[in-house]
Amino acid sequence: MVTPRLVLVLGDQLSEGLSALGAARKDCDIIVMAEVASETEYVPHHPKKIALVLAAMRHFAETLRDQGWTVAYTRLDEDENSGSITGELLRRADAHGADEVIVTRPGEWRLVQDLDDMPLKVTQLPDDRFIASLDEFDAWASDRKELRMEYFYREMRRKTGLMMEDGDPAGGQWNFDHDNRKPAKTDMLRSAPMQFTPDDMTEEVLRLVEDRFGDNFGALRPFHFAVTRGQALRALDHFVKHLLEGFGDYQDAMLQDDRFLHHSLLSPYINLGLLGPLEVCRRVEQAWKDGAVPINSAEGFIRQIIGWREYVRGIYFREGPDYTSRNILRHERALPWMYWGGETKMNCVRHAVAQTRDEGYAHHIQRLMVTGNFALLAGIAPAELHEWYLSVYVDAYEWVEAPNTIGMSQWADGGIIASKPYVSSGNYINKMSDYCGDCAYSVTEKTGETSCPFNTLYWYFLDRHRQRFEGNHRMGMIYSTWDKMEAGKRRDILDTAKAFLQRMDNGDVV
Ligand SMILES: Cc1cc2nc3c(=O)[nH]c(=O)nc-3n(C[C@H](O)[C@H](O)[C@H](O)COP(=O)(O)OP(=O)(O)OC[C@H]3O[C@@H](n4cnc5c(N)ncnc54)[C@H](O)[C@@H]3O)c2cc1C
Ligand code: SF4
Repeated sequence: MVTPRLVLVLGDQLSEGLSALGAARKDCDIIVMAEVASETEYVPHHPKKIALVLAAMRHFAETLRDQGWTVAYTRLDEDENSGSITGELLRRADAHGADEVIVTRPGEWRLVQDLDDMPLKVTQLPDDRFIASLDEFDAWASDRKELRMEYFYREMRRKTGLMMEDGDPAGGQWNFDHDNRKPAKTDMLRSAPMQFTPDDMTEEVLRLVEDRFGDNFGALRPFHFAVTRGQALRALDHFVKHLLEGFGDYQDAMLQDDRFLHHSLLSPYINLGLLGPLEVCRRVEQAWKDGAVPINSAEGFIRQIIGWREYVRGIYFREGPDYTSRNILRHERALPWMYWGGETKMNCVRHAVAQTRDEGYAHHIQRLMVTGNFALLAGIAPAELHEWYLSVYVDAYEWVEAPNTIGMSQWADGGIIASKPYVSSGNYINKMSDYCGDCAYSVTEKTGETSCPFNTLYWYFLDRHRQRFEGNHRMGMIYSTWDKMEAGKRRDILDTAKAFLQRMDNGDVV
């Protein structure tokens, strides 16, 4: 009799073309899928995120069974559940007389190492759902002084042929970002991302999550995410038909009464494996070829996926397990309570956090230029912020969240990802959103207790990190503006910033 092997399928590996499934034998190997406490509890995940992963896992297990696979599935509330992935593998190995495990390499160092340390033979296969392999990324990165995404992106355009014409970028340029910075207006006719009604299987998961994770930050219901590949494909179709057209123009815009604007809300599905990054991009490219969407929208969207998404994964694995603890600016302030829903007078932060609590979602500019920007200006410890982002978004997995937080947003990696810190005063937020008009602070005031905190914290950040950033050729102008200000005004700005931080540290509502 052939000895069965265990084929581990993790919660974010729900793809029929997964390399581990490709290497498995349907007639004798056992697929292992497990809902375990070590995964649901290592950070206080948003209830919607836990529900999405578990519901999608259960549906995927059913698909595999329908296809003739033997699936050993562990539910979170089973008595025999050992509580960890490795524990479940050992239990299944024992039950089936197996001593070998095949798995597609996990997207998190923690699990890669746990599996490496197992007393079973574990083969970790490359995750070929990405466009660039990790070796390809390293080859690209190894002879470069600076790892700028834009150059990596061009390689990916050449490799995939997406929006390429005779070896050149379509439209004569690689990047149409200068067209992509328009503020948005409320539009009652704008579509929302597609929503799905939970079926019985998902309802059962919702009750379980309600019961066990009801106290975690975040609203579980209403729950409208896609949990199967078929549904995710419909969500993609809906996005391309109804929202993609304005994606480019309004990519950086924020509106208090429109939480999604022209964003796709596809990251949860791509990251789970329900959609492939290349198939999503080909669909978008086709819409552009058909003349249904403008070039800046198609190019801008494709760049996020074959550019940023691939690039941050390459950085995460290249930089190693210590990446999440980097803190080059030595920021140590505790994450303020307002990030967990505590009161704040800053309308932009209040909206970004409320939306995060309700939806498990905020779009990129809210993450980068509101919550991320504020944390960087206020000197919040990057590790605490990293844990927050990893917890509160339904699309958050460490390989993608950590480089975005530690690198792009907090500059805690010393500039590997961002050539200069993403900091701005209230002026940027005012230009790109309608938050400021309804705020207790005044975005036009530059000093004093009622001035926008972003205005004063911005200069305080630049002033206290002057030694590090003054020589950065993209920041020289900013420092000369600061130096030209009258000394008394500079002092007022710094005093206002420090007083604000003091009030925040005291627990006052700021
Ligand atoms: C501090 C911070 C933390 C973040 N954490 C995550 C995270 O945990 N998981 C995650 O998927 N994205 C993360 N991002 C990137 C980005 O904000 C989300 O991918 C995006 O908001 C998802 O929403 P969407 O699908 O509507 O995106 P859209 O605006 O519709 O963009 C299309 C797609 O491009 C990809 N994409 C866009 N920007 C990025 C990026 N910077 N990195 C990787 N992929 C990108 C996503 O797959 C996304 O679905 C983070 C960004 C910041 C600044
Ligand atoms: S005034 Fe400042 S704090 Fe208020 S919404 Fe605008 S940017 Fe945010």
